Amino acid sequence: MMLTSRFVSIRSCACGARFAHRDDACPQCGRQLCPARVRSVGRLLCETTVRVNPTGHPFRLGLVRLAKGVTALCIVSGLTRGSGYDRVRIVTKDGVFHAIGAAARVNGGSRRPPASGED
Ligand SMILES: [Zn+2]
Repeated sequence: MMLTSRFVSIRSCACGARFAHRDDACPQCGRQLCPARVRSVGRLLCETTVRVNPTGHPFRLGLVRLAKGVTALCIVSGLTRGSGYDRVRIVTKDGVFHAIGAAARVNGGSRRPPASGED
């Protein structure tokens, strides 16, 4: 099930560190992490195509910088330029982060051609 929201769930620590993974302990200090959330819009820092994997189907994997310095490893879909500045929206599906390129959302509909006599 794909969950679309203005926010995405992350984990935060009393030491100030924030993470987009599900571990219970902070990798920096070892304390227990607490649930938190950040806006689901981020910037795609980089991406690569994973061609050899157990599914047999290539997929795109990328790092997305979210608010509060959180970086999330995501499966990437939609149109992206790969310039390091693509704006993406994060959704979760079966506990996995998915980054959807903004270009895919913008170009999802058809652009209305100008009517005759209109210019
Ligand atoms: Zn910590």
